[in-house]
Amino acid sequence: MVLGALGSRISDALRNMSNAMLVDDKVLNDMLKEIGNALIAADVSVPLVLNLRKAITQQVNMEEMAQGINKRKLIQTAVFQELINLVDPGHKPYVPVKGQTNVIMLVGLQGNGKTTTAGKLGYYYQRKGWKVGLVCADTFRAGAFDQLKQNATKARIPYYGSYTETSPVVVAADGVDKFREEGFEIIIVDTSGRHKQEEALFEEMAEVAEAVEPDTTIFVMDAAIGQAAQDQAEAFRERVDVGSVIITKMDGSAKGGGALSAVAATHSPIVFIGMGEHIDQLEPFDASSFVSRLLGRGDIMGLVSKLQDAGIDQQPELLEKLKQGVFTLRDMADQFQNLLQMGPISSVMSMMPGMSSSMLNSGSDEESARRINMFLSIMDSMTNEELDCDVKFNPSRIARVARGSGTSVNIVSSLLDEFKRFAKVFKKMKGLNMNSRNGPDLS
Ligand code: GDP
Repeated sequence: MVLGALGSRISDALRNMSNAMLVDDKVLNDMLKEIGNALIAADVSVPLVLNLRKAITQQVNMEEMAQGINKRKLIQTAVFQELINLVDPGHKPYVPVKGQTNVIMLVGLQGNGKTTTAGKLGYYYQRKGWKVGLVCADTFRAGAFDQLKQNATKARIPYYGSYTETSPVVVAADGVDKFREEGFEIIIVDTSGRHKQEEALFEEMAEVAEAVEPDTTIFVMDAAIGQAAQDQAEAFRERVDVGSVIITKMDGSAKGGGALSAVAATHSPIVFIGMGEHIDQLEPFDASSFVSRLLGRGDIMGLVSKLQDAGIDQQPELLEKLKQGVFTLRDMADQFQNLLQMGPISSVMSMMPGMSSSMLNSGSDEESARRINMFLSIMDSMTNEELDCDVKFNPSRIARVARGSGTSVNIVSSLLDEFKRFAKVFKKMKGLNMNSRNGPDLS
């Protein structure tokens, strides 16, 4: 997933600390140093890293720690909490209201992914059942309207724009009026990201905003800018009434950690992150879920929300099972079926606890889907008692399933190994408080 190297470095540092014979100041400092270096490599600014180290040290005072306290767990929780604080802007964004018109204006510099994000955002709300319209108010860049139209058409979202009108203010106002009159609930206005002069660009944004009176303005920026995001976000905030931020290209940038923490430091709510070029690669941002996934601990709440989006109505059952730590081969088959329906497999995988180290997580969506389908066909050849884990798999059962599914003993054995790994992770989640900000403890 995004920032994979950062996540593995932090997880390794935590694991080294946990495996130490004796957790003392030196072990703690070594861990903090490694986490700090990993964050700096992801372009998090030095002052923010120093703050994080200080906050952890304050929470974990070795000398004053009472006997018998689980130091390892305490340190892990402190790291988890401070990583969340690092990317948590601490402010709530505007939440669109169902049944009324919500005008959302997107601003940002050209090339940052604004038009792509307009389509993704429209698609996101449309999938949730909102009536969505897209308005192209970028009359400066030739081809902007065509691009928006193409995205909108692909997602079957109504759009508005003009090839002849040169005033962005007129196009924006006409588009919003039209959709408003027709009872649209979400109207997304894509604005221009470039002008001959920067001043003219800000002027134009202000005029468009005055004409359409947006309920919220979202600043769209590219993760590759890293910690410089702070200056850019502040510059935009000074000139436009920015309500929240979307950070794009989190999939491709090693500097994503810098961008997220820099924006969080400006206290602007981060609403979504862009995770790829496709229309469904936009994810709601939540600091706690993000850190959970970064550290390979999965994101149960994110997973449940994806299940909901995909119209898979078995969340209560799934949650109940997760809480009880019950997990059978049949459950795994159900989850694999869901996985195939839930959009980009790689993004869903990073939400599943234990998936980051899974053999199914090949990095390529096609390859992962192929393996999942193969595993499903193997599970199709199992008996009910095998699926419900009421019997043990012996060599003759494995050979029978291999024959029945047209695979091999090795492949069936690897499926069973994978299942054992999953079951272990799920067992550890027993009794988990799903709303905990500390995330599941899977150490
Ligand atoms: P705009 O000028 O701000 O409207 O930017 P565009 O929407 O035209 O996007 C510029 C480029 O960034 C395009 O090639 C998009 O496909 C790409 N892009 C946008 N969002 C993402 C993202 O989240 N991930 C990746 N990998 N590419 C993105």
